Amino acid sequence: MDQRSFATRAVHAGSKVPQSSTQPKVPPIYAASVFSFSHLDLIDEVYQGESSGYVYSRIANPGPNLLEEAVASLEQSDGAIAYGSGMGAIAVSILAEVKSGDHIVATQVLYGGTYSLFHTELPKFGVNTSFVDFNNLDAVVAAIQPNTKILYVETISNPLMEVADLATLAEVAHSRDLKLYVDNTFASPLLCQPLQLGADLSIHSATKYLNGHSDVTAGILVGRHDFLKRAAAVGTTYGPTLSPFDAWLVLRGIRTIGLRMERHCANALELARYLEQHPKVTLVHYPGLESSPFKAIADRTLTGGYGGMLSFEVVGGLDGARTVIDSLKMVELVPSLAGVATTVSHPGKTSHRAIPLAEREKFGVGDGLIRVSVGIEAIDDIKADFEQALAKL
Ligand SMILES: *Cc1c(COP(=O)(O)O)cnc(C)c1O
Repeated sequence: MDQRSFATRAVHAGSKVPQSSTQPKVPPIYAASVFSFSHLDLIDEVYQGESSGYVYSRIANPGPNLLEEAVASLEQSDGAIAYGSGMGAIAVSILAEVKSGDHIVATQVLYGGTYSLFHTELPKFGVNTSFVDFNNLDAVVAAIQPNTKILYVETISNPLMEVADLATLAEVAHSRDLKLYVDNTFASPLLCQPLQLGADLSIHSATKYLNGHSDVTAGILVGRHDFLKRAAAVGTTYGPTLSPFDAWLVLRGIRTIGLRMERHCANALELARYLEQHPKVTLVHYPGLESSPFKAIADRTLTGGYGGMLSFEVVGGLDGARTVIDSLKMVELVPSLAGVATTVSHPGKTSHRAIPLAEREKFGVGDGLIRVSVGIEAIDDIKADFEQALAKL
């Protein structure tokens, strides 16, 4: 019997990791903020790298490390580093590469949070960004300055699903000693492995397809040794750490990403073809359609499909979009993407809210535009829901 006092037993009983000759089939969640050392000299051995050991979970934890190993394997890279959100990953990626006085050339159609980082936050540290049309290579080259360090692009853009020509952009970047950063969130590692096309860094909001179940916020950077070393130091200091529990959920999501992406892509292609021939739909943006101006670039940049994201314009502008969105029954209005359920969002009221209608209409984000994150349900049920909603127009 444990003779210690109640308070002592409460603190210490049941706190040792059980010994087992068998292994758990799935790695456990190491919900520990810190690790214990068996003797004093072990501290020196661990800090000097003579003995491998975890110290403190802001620096490293087995759960996030396993996730990093998995994503590095999916994209065939040297390694990866996971963070508590996609924005945490993006912020670290920039801070690891630039200093005051440096310059970034970024695509003008950026995820909203990234735009705010580049447009509003980084200038406070003396880092400025030029936003240009990455479909126009001359414009990209013309924006490069002597102090430019990074070209920043998204594999598939939001909300018009434009595909970036990563191989060509990598050549442009490297001939000028710049880094090419690619936000690969919309593509997922199944469709695109940017490092294999010459990019220096692949970034994911793991909140999206990597996790895939709309129940985690996480991010990850996939890169080469030199960069990862710097990013690890920056991340440890700034601290946007991923929790062991969330890392475990993303890793579980990854187990089915092959199957999920296959179905997301097949469903999206079929829904895009259905919408394209619908009389109330004026335009469909999906790189897998023969009619898409991005089909050729997509064919040399993406493998295994064209993604689960599409957008389309309905007749009647805002009223038309409202009628369709409010009439959908199974498909919910959700301002995010990449979960197993089909969802819609309205770019004009969410990601592009700050831009006046007249201005965003010029580049194709009018009020009749609806974005769809196509889920993995049976395609006939998805089509039927859009069919009955479009019939209300
Ligand atoms: C969601 C998203 C982000 C930001 O990721 P969070 O996990 O929300 O911080 C960045 N880029 C793209 C393309 C995204 O869709």
